[in-house]
Amino acid sequence: MEEELLQRHLSELGLSVSVSPEKGRCLFTTNQFSPGEIIISQQPYVSVPKDSSGASRCEVCFCSAKLKKCSACHFVWYCGSTCQKSDWMFHRVECQALSKLEKERLKHLTPSIRLMVKLYLRKKLQDEKVEYLTYLHVIPTTVTDNYNLVEALVSHMTEIDDKQLVLYAQMANLVHVILQWPGLKLKEVAENFSKLACNVHSICDSELRPLGIGLYPVISIINHSCLPNAVLMFEGKQAVVRAVQPIPKGTEVLISYIETAGSTMTRQKALKEQYLFSCSCPRCIKLGQCEDIRESSILEGYGCENNACMGFLLRDSENKAFICQQCGHARKLEDLRKIASEVKTFSEKAEESLKSGSILSDNSDNEEAGSMYKAVEKLQIRLCHPLSLNLMRTRDHLLKVFMELKNWKDALDYCRMTIPVYEKAYPGCHPMLGLQYYTCGKLEWLLGETANCVRSLTKAVDILRLTHGTNTPFIKELLFKLEEARAEASFKLKPLDED
Ligand SMILES: [Zn+2]
Ligand SMILES: [Zn+2]
Ligand SMILES: [Zn+2]
Ligand SMILES: [Zn+2]
Repeated sequence: MEEELLQRHLSELGLSVSVSPEKGRCLFTTNQFSPGEIIISQQPYVSVPKDSSGASRCEVCFCSAKLKKCSACHFVWYCGSTCQKSDWMFHRVECQALSKLEKERLKHLTPSIRLMVKLYLRKKLQDEKVEYLTYLHVIPTTVTDNYNLVEALVSHMTEIDDKQLVLYAQMANLVHVILQWPGLKLKEVAENFSKLACNVHSICDSELRPLGIGLYPVISIINHSCLPNAVLMFEGKQAVVRAVQPIPKGTEVLISYIETAGSTMTRQKALKEQYLFSCSCPRCIKLGQCEDIRESSILEGYGCENNACMGFLLRDSENKAFICQQCGHARKLEDLRKIASEVKTFSEKAEESLKSGSILSDNSDNEEAGSMYKAVEKLQIRLCHPLSLNLMRTRDHLLKVFMELKNWKDALDYCRMTIPVYEKAYPGCHPMLGLQYYTCGKLEWLLGETANCVRSLTKAVDILRLTHGTNTPFIKELLFKLEEARAEASFKLKPLDED
């Protein structure tokens, strides 16, 4: 019955679910979709804010302005009475428990545990809807917003190792401490934690900064590809999946679950570790082929010592050196290892100074981080291929440091250096590439390089209008900036004696 209702709902959207023996449930199109078109969107069944930056967020809308703590539990934050009231029927149970919980236990209350508590509270409200009739208008159980869909998610329980199972059991116990429900089955809670591990989505803002986590049971049907035809973004907490390529009728909708910048081995490892499957997308099936070896050695391997040479290096048969495949120059393994260990030392120091810097937002800390990352960069230039991801990440750190320091010139230089690697590492229409063009354009604008700014912002718009849609405030601002830059560029082009 549930399944039938879901299929009917999806068919109205031009979609259908089918089951494949290898991949389980898959989302297919029954209509065609053009790039930028919304395929499906969904509000989270449950969600919690997660502060990676150390800043707190409103429990309901995830904003970080004018927050106040719940006066009873002193644990959950709200931006105002509207958000607090709308959350009360969930929070009241949690609130009682949290107020009684010892301080020591509160420390273990991770976003995952809180998400699980909320999942059970929602289920309870759904099950007892007769008693909660008055609330029905607030929590409708619709086709896509239903605990039964959560039950249908994959859990991979049999593939999880003992250590992880023990951890899930401990987490389940904490959920029990909070909920205090006599009938709660700890084994079921533990199994649900394994479901969350592969199905929870990180909710990000338009610039892909994480704000929280949420469960979107229908979005979870969509499978992964390292070269996806769709992209998942968030508008507030609403998950929105848009086509990034023309998707014909009868095609599987695919998004990426992981950071796709990485060699095939790195991507496969990440998917196996977090999602417990092996990817067989068009990029992954090339593993071990010449083209893939070349790509992977460029992105994650060593560079040639000959300055002008862009060749990639492969290990020799005796495993003592790496040989450039273009000019034949050899680099000793022990020399490479020595530089690599220096890189590690400096990177750790740089990370440390950046951590203290971001909290105090003290310029001297940023300067310290800047000189550390410059040392890392210098070493990586000797060690890595010019298009290496590690070098790109160091330069991204330098870009951020210089932006903090309002040193637009150096920031722009570093931004430009990263772009060829972004283009390689994020093939197709990828929001990361679009955002990097956007940063580049903003810096060019600040430095008065109007023509370059128009070029960069145009590239940013070409990608981001597809991944983010054209109606969000984020894109409207970008379009406005582009208009402004175009107007100024045409003004600059006019000969001086015209007016
Ligand atoms: Zn709020
Ligand atoms: Zn409270
Ligand atoms: Zn893949
Ligand atoms: Zn070479």
